[in-house]
Amino acid sequence: MKAVVWQEPGTVELQDVPDPRVQQSTDAIVRLTMSALCGTDLHMIRGTFPGMAPGTVLGHEGVGVVEEVGSGVRAFQPGDRVVVPSTIACGTCSYCRAGYTAQCDTANPNGPLAGTAIFGGPEATGGFAGMQAGYVRVPFANANLVALPDSIIDEQAIVISDVLPTGWFGARLAEVGVGDTVAVFGCGPVGQLAIASAWYQGAGRVLAVDSVAGRLETARRQHAEPVDFSAEEPVAMLRELTGGIGPDRVIDAVGVDAYPQAEGSESEQAQASGGGTLAWSHGTLPSQAARWAVQAVAKAGTIGVIGVYPPTFESWPIGSAMNKNLTVHMGNCNHRALMPRLVDLVASGALDPSAILERQEPMRDAVQAYQAFDQREPGWIKVALEGLT
Ligand SMILES: [Zn+2]
Repeated sequence: MKAVVWQEPGTVELQDVPDPRVQQSTDAIVRLTMSALCGTDLHMIRGTFPGMAPGTVLGHEGVGVVEEVGSGVRAFQPGDRVVVPSTIACGTCSYCRAGYTAQCDTANPNGPLAGTAIFGGPEATGGFAGMQAGYVRVPFANANLVALPDSIIDEQAIVISDVLPTGWFGARLAEVGVGDTVAVFGCGPVGQLAIASAWYQGAGRVLAVDSVAGRLETARRQHAEPVDFSAEEPVAMLRELTGGIGPDRVIDAVGVDAYPQAEGSESEQAQASGGGTLAWSHGTLPSQAARWAVQAVAKAGTIGVIGVYPPTFESWPIGSAMNKNLTVHMGNCNHRALMPRLVDLVASGALDPSAILERQEPMRDAVQAYQAFDQREPGWIKVALEGLT
């Protein structure tokens, strides 16, 4: 099969690699019909997420058709149409049973304390081959695969692999409830789906903070109230818009990884920040988004953090948060635990994530997509994979 393969920082190639095979009795092989690229892939390519093994197939989002199953797979058979969660869960351990599928004890071969297992990531995340390929081996297939009804097309289903559950998870972490005023920091694809999720979970108002005009316009089309941090001081504006109180709930969909690191050129930085004079910060300083979130949220409010912070990152405005009696929840999305319900919501038409993201990123060929992607702001791109098998 053909696959998008990581060779070294800065080098990604479409290569012929061996087809994956059933290795364990509970494995399934899925023929992929659609995948996607997201900002996380760019960090692996640039080397800002270290520990990638040369030859790793990239991609942690996938939709396809079951091609082959091991003898222990009872829930699926060849021909079944499925969406594959980005993170891998065994379905058997106590964490999986409690819904913390991103904290599975078993899936990461480096051990129960090694962290979340993910497709197409560094060796520390398990070294699993990714889904920008003709086929993928899915471990623990009984528990990992999520069946798709025919009424959901690939363009909708691919969003359920990662970005929709992550946005939904952010709204859940922030404890969005009926009538709440919710601010979403970072209006990339996950932020947009956090906005949609906040509405669905009962928000009374949603405020959307970013500096990229197109993202703010997409947020406004979802009837969020845009706040452009390159044109107005966001904390002051969030207070002004909320009667001086601040939003009840804040979703941090930025983390420290949203934009290119400092090695980028000045023009790249300017492009990444939408041409504004401010940009999200990086490295060992508290992230700008984290500080704004803590400053802006109402006293005794709640923050949900879904933006990615590396394990080595140790700086966060805990003093301000403690003195405001804030509640802060954070974590890697428990994809598998959330996905069946999201399949139902998409199938029913209650949520149509492809309509929200359609305006952001066109569909492209995988390698062309990487070339284009690396030269503009990280976002999310659907990739059709016909022909890679
Ligand atoms: Zn588990």
